[in-house]
Amino acid sequence: MAYHWMNYLITSGQASIHHKFNHGSEKRKYLVDGCNWDSSTNTTYQLHRCYCHGHQCDVTTNIRDQRWIEEREHKLKKTFDTTSYLKSQGYNVDEMWEFDFQKLHTNPLVHDVITKERLPVYRKHPGRVNETQILNAVRRGDLF
Ligand SMILES: [Zn+2]
Repeated sequence: MAYHWMNYLITSGQASIHHKFNHGSEKRKYLVDGCNWDSSTNTTYQLHRCYCHGHQCDVTTNIRDQRWIEEREHKLKKTFDTTSYLKSQGYNVDEMWEFDFQKLHTNPLVHDVITKERLPVYRKHPGRVNETQILNAVRRGDLF
């Protein structure tokens, strides 16, 4: 999903991000989920998965897992702390929640990016890609 968002930002001219899918090497400054960096604007782009980052919205509304519910606020706080940290280090931070990105799917450009620019392994196996297919693609060197 972060991949699709990045491609959307690049395709729509909102960012020139160097990430591993279009440049072969990722200029990752931090080991943050979905963290990519545009050197020309000094901006990091972070797409937050609602489940992983404790976002309360339509995506997570039906979660009944007690452990997730107990840890939700902590996950959310960690996400905000990371953003504050990046800003304190002088970065601009552009964030997108999974829930908000899903709403963007009605945007024709986002739809195009998602359907036309799927990773080769996904194009080869439309629909569901399992772990074995991914591992085989890694072994063959054609995952990306
Ligand atoms: Zn959400």
